[in-house]
Amino acid sequence: FDKTAYWQDIDQAHHIHPFTDTADLNNRGTRVITRAEGVFIEDSNGKRYLDGMAGLWCVNVGYGRKELAEVAYKQMLELPYYNNFFQCANTPAIELSKVLAEITPDGLNHVFYANSGSEANDTVVRMVRQYWKLKGTPERSVIISRKNAYHGSTVAGSSLGGMAGMHAQGGPLLPDVVHIDQPYWYGEGGDHTPEEFGLIAARKLEEKIEELGADRVGAFIGEPIQGAGGVIIPPSTYWPEIQRICKKYDILLIADEVICGFGRTGAWFGSDTFDIKPDLMPMAKGMSSGYLPISAVMVGDRVADVLINECGEFTHGFTYSGHPACAAVALENIRILRDEKMVERVKDDIGPYFAKALKTLEDHPLVGAVETVGLIAGMPLVDDKKTRKMFDKPGTVGTICRDACVANGVIMRACGDRMVLSPPLCITKEEIDELVKRARAAFDETAKKIGK
Ligand code: PLP
Repeated sequence: FDKTAYWQDIDQAHHIHPFTDTADLNNRGTRVITRAEGVFIEDSNGKRYLDGMAGLWCVNVGYGRKELAEVAYKQMLELPYYNNFFQCANTPAIELSKVLAEITPDGLNHVFYANSGSEANDTVVRMVRQYWKLKGTPERSVIISRKNAYHGSTVAGSSLGGMAGMHAQGGPLLPDVVHIDQPYWYGEGGDHTPEEFGLIAARKLEEKIEELGADRVGAFIGEPIQGAGGVIIPPSTYWPEIQRICKKYDILLIADEVICGFGRTGAWFGSDTFDIKPDLMPMAKGMSSGYLPISAVMVGDRVADVLINECGEFTHGFTYSGHPACAAVALENIRILRDEKMVERVKDDIGPYFAKALKTLEDHPLVGAVETVGLIAGMPLVDDKKTRKMFDKPGTVGTICRDACVANGVIMRACGDRMVLSPPLCITKEEIDELVKRARAAFDETAKKIGK
């Protein structure tokens, strides 16, 4: 009995995969993942892979943490479900609110729960628009985002996102969302220094506000580091200038921390790393290390004061907002991050080691640069290192390289032709060495395949 073939047949007959070309899937056969431990995942044929992506940028504490399973089990026996609507609340959700207020930047003292990053961003859109409505200026409904941003797959999430491929599918987008250029120096910075280009990219926000009229613009949204866009780390000048512009025009600043949050950048949040002072902060993924689905929007005092005191009932919520088992797992996950000093370890020890080890790949003819912050990295595969010229058909070389990584037992993602990494925060130095070794083998195979 071929277990793998059994699962593959059923999968292909009935399962619609997210972000997957079905013809391609059927051609290659589904890779059925059956178990995981630490930073390794294993498929149904027993092949092990070093998971350089922590699942989808989310398994921050690593796989196989029994404490998380145990708190979920205990909570499910005690109170498997009760909602937080109307006058009710469950105790894990209450406790988690306090802990989130403690670990997030100053001034973010209130939390609204949802189940995914996409839902958190939908919530943000409704909050922004309701805020300005309550302030007597409902026409400030425009939200400015960036090209190549990723904010989720719901209608609001995909509209906020700046992925051309997503905009082309699924019908009309949400109105009053506009996009400016991203701060992508390597690909778009031309002859400017990164610092100059950071200012140029940030000032696109000011230009857009002037074009639309400040009385129409309600908020700007950005990931501190664009994740799915290819780990685009903004130049140091970018966020301070964005902050200045938002302040000048009295525009709400939304930092989408779905990837950057919970230690990824070597601080609790990307906003800490880049000194961003957001009014609203959606988060998900690392909040529970992906063990159960939970997300949240941290709401700053400015917005909370209006939404809480002047709105009456904010008609918004999900059946599972603050689900007790998910909240209990998130609490335990944060306890692990805190007690094991994982965030400090990313900043002071394993993050610098990761950067140094990966940098050794910069001598590879395909690798244009190795860009890292904490435990997140982006590496453009390039046609010409000197001129930073990318390949003509974006994504082709990246896909070849991604497949070569899988063949070499390491999970790396290709965002177009940028290879990205976001391993579990518990990764050891030996595992990083192993990751780099396997990545180099994959890059070599890719170069050979494309005749470089
Ligand atoms: N925002 C960012 C920055 C993300 O990277 C993602 C997912 O990758 C989302 C939002 C959407 O989160 P979810 O897939 O949980 O809906």
